[in-house]
Amino acid sequence: MSGTACRGRFAPSPTGPLHFGSLLAAVGSFLDARARHGSWLVRMEDLDPPREMPGAADDILRTLEAFGLHWDGEVMYQSRRHAAYRAALDELERAQHLYPCGCSRREIQAQAVAGKPAIYPGTCRNGLPPGRVARAVRIRVPDIDIHFEDRVQGRTGLNLAEQSGDFILRRADGQFAYHLAVVIDDAAQDITDIVRGADLLDCTAPQIFLQQALGYSTPRYLHLPVVVNAQGEKLSKQTHAPPVSAEHAIATLGRVLQRLGQALPDAGTLDDFWRQAIHNWQVTRIPRSRNVNEH
Ligand code: GLU
Repeated sequence: MSGTACRGRFAPSPTGPLHFGSLLAAVGSFLDARARHGSWLVRMEDLDPPREMPGAADDILRTLEAFGLHWDGEVMYQSRRHAAYRAALDELERAQHLYPCGCSRREIQAQAVAGKPAIYPGTCRNGLPPGRVARAVRIRVPDIDIHFEDRVQGRTGLNLAEQSGDFILRRADGQFAYHLAVVIDDAAQDITDIVRGADLLDCTAPQIFLQQALGYSTPRYLHLPVVVNAQGEKLSKQTHAPPVSAEHAIATLGRVLQRLGQALPDAGTLDDFWRQAIHNWQVTRIPRSRNVNEH
């Protein structure tokens, strides 16, 4: 590292209480930062009110504390960051990276190749076709490959034009998009190391592109395997993942460490557990896979 202290973060969306999968992302990012004597920040990604659950943000913070996952500084709330997002959009607009788009999701889906993710075909790229009304704001992407070295998953990346397409920075309902907010906030919080679930692996190349467009540096990435249930589905509110309880914190954290391939601390208090887990943390032991089973 070039003299910069390591800064990691956990960035939950408050759509529900913390479950085993989100706890694993919290623990992975925490240990990775603490093992290098770095800072660990928490950012509440409360960007999408219709998807949020009232009280979930506070509930997540209380649960992190009960598990001994103590963060540095103030929690950042994306709901209070709209001015920064607007300013970045203005900057991208001035540099002519953006265009208004009048297409609906259904129209884009209808043009997609069956079984493939819907890539925006560029209908409004050169101006809104007659009769169209601007709905969302998109960023124009060039036909280039963006690759990066993931600390666990290895070299990965994609072709922006073919596999991402021009992506949305401001949605039709007026909300700022995840890609925009995450890139601006990681830069604002001086994050050097992003540790998150491998379900976000394909988000990384578009995010690196956006970092470059805004003149930010690119952090290091480490994508952890995602916890899946017996049906192979990612644990989430939609798959009815139960909330984690700190009642048996050490046992639950032990299960997390096992999924991360780490040595298990000896019996002791929660403080002892963390001291040993931080000391034992080895990135090379994390399974190099996209998924791990819940049980
Ligand atoms: N808020 C996102 C989530 O809960 C995580 C974003 C990130 O770590 O970049 O899935």
